[in-house]
Amino acid sequence: MEASLYIHIPFCAGACDYCDFYSTAPRGRRRDRLTGAFIEALLLDAEKTLARFARAGNGPDRQGRRFPEGPVSRTGLFLRVPTLYIGGGTPSLLGAAGMTRLLGGLMPMLPPLREFTVEANPESLDEAFLRTCRDFGVTRISLGVQTFHEPSRRSVHRVGDGSLLPEKLALTAEYYGGSFSADLITGLPCQTEALVLEDIERLLAFNPGHVSLYALTVEEGTPLSLPPLRRGKSSVPFLPDGETADRLWLAGRDALEQAGYDQYEVSNFSLPGKQSVHNIRYWRMKNWLGLGPAASGTIIDDASGTGRRYTAAADVDAYIAAAKTGSPAGSGLTEELDSATLIKESFLMGFRCIEGPDRDLFRRRFSRDVEELIPITLEAWRRRGLAAAEKTALTREGLLWLDPFLLDAFKEAESQLK
Ligand code: SF4
Repeated sequence: MEASLYIHIPFCAGACDYCDFYSTAPRGRRRDRLTGAFIEALLLDAEKTLARFARAGNGPDRQGRRFPEGPVSRTGLFLRVPTLYIGGGTPSLLGAAGMTRLLGGLMPMLPPLREFTVEANPESLDEAFLRTCRDFGVTRISLGVQTFHEPSRRSVHRVGDGSLLPEKLALTAEYYGGSFSADLITGLPCQTEALVLEDIERLLAFNPGHVSLYALTVEEGTPLSLPPLRRGKSSVPFLPDGETADRLWLAGRDALEQAGYDQYEVSNFSLPGKQSVHNIRYWRMKNWLGLGPAASGTIIDDASGTGRRYTAAADVDAYIAAAKTGSPAGSGLTEELDSATLIKESFLMGFRCIEGPDRDLFRRRFSRDVEELIPITLEAWRRRGLAAAEKTALTREGLLWLDPFLLDAFKEAESQLK
């Protein structure tokens, strides 16, 4: 079996107002204790999970335990892991010592990787951390920049000090010249088009191979979704209106493209050959395993077009306790995915990409073509110039209308699948 691996590090220095990823911000000695216990739990979980999937279908293990039957168990004897992504949270908060323990335990369990990414935040990134990453074979660093503009950072309580960014970017470029990625956000309070362009110019001076340009979204349950007076922290309460926010993102997109960064997904741009292989595998609905609290994994059986998804509970203490008692630390929620669900997910993920869904894989799994399921939608969107004529994908302008396209596609596919 082949599956990418995602590891969720659930620690941050604080909580940014817009973030809905699971993380916790322990302080002082509790932080050291919790981090150490988490790494040990993660290694136990990795050993069990990797062995379970590698051995799936081979009957009982040495202790006589049987592994769950299902799509996984029919697919193979060995586990290939093309890509590894350590995200969070803030992996760089583990520091060089924490990373040495984590990767020292983990890497011997894994086959050779094609791509290995680690996320880092400038405030906790130092030379020892980068050197450790390089020594253990990390091929990409993904750095959370967001914006250089201090009032915008403060207005959403972005963790870290923006004045450190140039120094930390220079350090990252020294170790990962051309092979690092940086995240930027548009649509922040106090942001103007000139400031977005300035962010891009300052970032590109360090020659990242890849840039993610996210339009700020207000996720349910985050502090930013609360009315200003209920946010509990002093902040600049006003977000730009929708039209202004769109203009800011488009200005950023155009500046990146003019600088030679090709858009290959809704929010992702890269220089030639510097796309994120790991993320492309998600968007193409290839298998992945997840480790750590709140991480999920999805395994799809190509023969039946059905799959299984598990999502670990978003609770680091529960995760550590489960690993210690030997119960599967990855447990939380398991869902069976039928073909109709997976077809919709393949659209949802695949049409985010400038190349569209993986048509060969789609045909192999569902015994029909994407075009066969949504011919009317594709034809209508092609007539408007928003879907590509020569491939099954949206155009660059069509990507701006992804949501209405998906509504049309789902409606048509559902009528075909009845
Ligand atoms: S540092 Fe990143 S993961 Fe942590 S709260 Fe902020 S946005 Fe979320």
